[in-house]
Amino acid sequence: MAAGLSFMGGQYIEPVPFTHLLKTLAPAAAGRFASLCAVCRGWGAQRVCGDCVARFARVVPRCRSCALEVPAGVSVCGDCLRHPPPWEQALAAVDYVHPWDGLLTLFKFHAALDLAPALTQRLFDAQGLDSASHHPGLLLPMPLNPVRLRERGHNQAWELARRLGTLLNCPADAHLLLRPRDTSHQTTLAPSARAANVQGAFAVEPRRLAEVRGRELTLVDDVMTTGASAAEATRVLLEAGAARVQVWVVARTPRPGSD
Ligand SMILES: [Zn+2]
Ligand SMILES: [Zn+2]
Repeated sequence: MAAGLSFMGGQYIEPVPFTHLLKTLAPAAAGRFASLCAVCRGWGAQRVCGDCVARFARVVPRCRSCALEVPAGVSVCGDCLRHPPPWEQALAAVDYVHPWDGLLTLFKFHAALDLAPALTQRLFDAQGLDSASHHPGLLLPMPLNPVRLRERGHNQAWELARRLGTLLNCPADAHLLLRPRDTSHQTTLAPSARAANVQGAFAVEPRRLAEVRGRELTLVDDVMTTGASAAEATRVLLEAGAARVQVWVVARTPRPGSD
């Protein structure tokens, strides 16, 4: 038998060089926080490694009203100047494109809750970099209808909001804003039909109306597409007397036609 080879089950197995073994195992042994990157399969401190964050979570100037990308130096886009959304400010960490679209689908529909810290971190970083962002006040996850919540087993927005609350040291509440009406087929509707579909979808918990009055609130969600749901939820909160509403999402669907 050649030196350096071992014989196992009728096959010669080349021993793994010690240095290679060390390189492979060291990150795992370095601490219980090392994890396999969900994008490149390399080792990182979170489920999306530092290299992939640097590559895919590029910081771009965004409209402070709708969070779509804008040219440098522009703070509010033309569409928002003409038709301002009801919320005061919108914040998005990344565009809803590769790899975030795939990760958010796993997180939302396939209970990949191990992705929650890495996704929350994107939102945390985005608000930290945005000099115009206000303190969020109270974080409110975009609620799920109770039937949908039972089916899915988790509300992805709550998984983000509660972790963000810990990072920002501010409260998060999943029971103040409710979604009594199910509008889950929203994604199958044309953008123009979405606003009508979400009318009446949200309500403030009737016994806690006083907690909304004069309050600064931030809606947290995974993705903003047309913003119809966030707009309706914002209107309900403002009607109940909220002082200010912001909308923070991990990912923003880019403007049609942009890449
Ligand atoms: Zn990676
Ligand atoms: Zn805008």
